[in-house]
Amino acid sequence: MKPATKFIHAGAEPDPSTGAIMTPIFQTSTYVQEAPGVNKGFEYARSQNPTRKALEEALAIIENGKFGLAFSSGVAATDAVIKLLTPGDEVICANDMYGGTYRLFTKVFERFGIVFKYIDTTNTKNVSDAITSKTKLVWLETPTNPLMNITDIAAIASITKEKNILLAVDNTFASPALQNPLDLGADIVMHSVTKYLGGHSDVIQGALVMNDADLREKLYFIQKSCGAVPGPMDCFLVLRGIKTLGVRMKAHCENGTKIAHWLRSHPKIAKVYWPGFEDHPGYAVAKKQMKDFGGMISFELKNDSVEEARRVLSSTHLFSLAESLGGVESLINHPASMTHASIPREERIKNGLSDSLIRLSVGIEDTDDLIEDLEKAIG
Ligand SMILES: *Cc1c(COP(=O)(O)O)cnc(C)c1O
Repeated sequence: MKPATKFIHAGAEPDPSTGAIMTPIFQTSTYVQEAPGVNKGFEYARSQNPTRKALEEALAIIENGKFGLAFSSGVAATDAVIKLLTPGDEVICANDMYGGTYRLFTKVFERFGIVFKYIDTTNTKNVSDAITSKTKLVWLETPTNPLMNITDIAAIASITKEKNILLAVDNTFASPALQNPLDLGADIVMHSVTKYLGGHSDVIQGALVMNDADLREKLYFIQKSCGAVPGPMDCFLVLRGIKTLGVRMKAHCENGTKIAHWLRSHPKIAKVYWPGFEDHPGYAVAKKQMKDFGGMISFELKNDSVEEARRVLSSTHLFSLAESLGGVESLINHPASMTHASIPREERIKNGLSDSLIRLSVGIEDTDDLIEDLEKAIG
């Protein structure tokens, strides 16, 4: 089945009791048992919920995986992956990634004795050089947030497979419509469902998708034992959001392409970060592993003062000043003071994230209106 069809039909079986085409919202905490231990496969809603089950099946199908698990947020999904590890284990991860992931690793899990090595994963050799006998997991994000760095998933997967190390990929920016890491050899795909999968800025949720049944059992055990499960209403909203993922991503990519090129030709813009430019260092890999380049764009102004960046950030009308991304509406964000404020300034600067960097999540409004809005704000 082709992706556009999958997005609409994945996990959607008519409700057996009524024929309802949409999976009902099973707003229940428990299930009545026929006799002690005799039930219909549902005992208590932290462990099983039919709306969540339908969504988890859909998530697996759209990521070309066997098993899906839904979590109450993207960071809860990441948290579950790290809980596969034990103190002393080492994790190799990118030095440019979502600020909340960095915070979870440095501020929570380092205290539990997990060791994280932050490196430039765009250079595959850096990853093989960083591996020791204690390395248990490589955590990738590609494209990265907010600098749009691209890491070659298949190349890293060939290293981790040989060394028997787990490879997890945060696929939030690309979404399953543009990139499928399991097909490239990853063991686990993580999503902040909050973003493109939900697609309408109305839900916080996370997901993991995998192929290995043992890994699924371990992660399911963590999901039910630690309890970061999403509610049925949120699962319903995401099931609905996924149906339009194909058309939404097409529109995000079209707008993203036009706006990236427009920004690049603007006399007041110094640099535009977008993997669809042929001179982007990750272009060849992006072209190989992604179906299109997405609607996430970052840029720097020629006047690189924080004041000028703040002026532009406060001057748009269609682009709302907000954290998050991937919704139908366009957003503008200042990583240094908003999404990535949890990363110490010197770390940020060292990794190329300047104080004046502006990040756009290009929505699916009319392109001309979006360009006019940016034109007026940049001046
Ligand atoms: C938002 C985001 C997360 C965290 O997800 P939440 O749903 O906010 O918990 C992780 N990775 C990336 C790339 C994100 O953009």
